[in-house]
Amino acid sequence: MKIGWFRGHQTPWNRGTIGLRKEDDMINEVSYLAIEKLRELGYEVIDCTPTKEDFKSIHSTSDSLRMRCEKANSAKVDIVISMHFNYYNGKAHGCEVFYVSNNGKKIAKPIQDELIKLGFYNRGIKIHKKLYVLNHTNAPAILIEGCFCDSEKDMAIFDAEKMSNAIVKGITGKEVNAEENKMDIEALKKFAESIGYKLVKK
Ligand SMILES: [Zn+2]
Repeated sequence: MKIGWFRGHQTPWNRGTIGLRKEDDMINEVSYLAIEKLRELGYEVIDCTPTKEDFKSIHSTSDSLRMRCEKANSAKVDIVISMHFNYYNGKAHGCEVFYVSNNGKKIAKPIQDELIKLGFYNRGIKIHKKLYVLNHTNAPAILIEGCFCDSEKDMAIFDAEKMSNAIVKGITGKEVNAEENKMDIEALKKFAESIGYKLVKK
């Protein structure tokens, strides 16, 4: 199975929301770990997020979204995972996964089931017809809102390592041995630099 991975936002003009922590940082931490773990399990993962080089030719969020979908489609991926974190009023909390097709729903459900095991409030899996990335990939796509970056409740239990394990288990059905995949902050920083992003870890 070939997986297209979208790290939400990550453009010079859109760094995502800023709550108790920055959405883009959290996306990168979880994505970096999940991609590594999926590759270790033998899955091919294409990170379709625009890179420094791409920013020479794209200049807007719509360009960025279109480019992600084009990369996924030309790589002929089998599924697409878009990683985000939510932001609202400090009170809202929990995890949710959006889909648009029935095949997307089948991908969303097991991921949500794993995320709620981490202790996040179950906001459910939801059909969302207006999200660009769910509508412009040939492969079924889902969008994960891992938790709320402005919720004290969520931030108290958020752990990138555990969340990446949950998502990998949800996608593959395979357990990830957390002990073998300890977060390597130096490697994470290198990864962030390679994509033109300065990681500020709280
Ligand atoms: Zn987002």
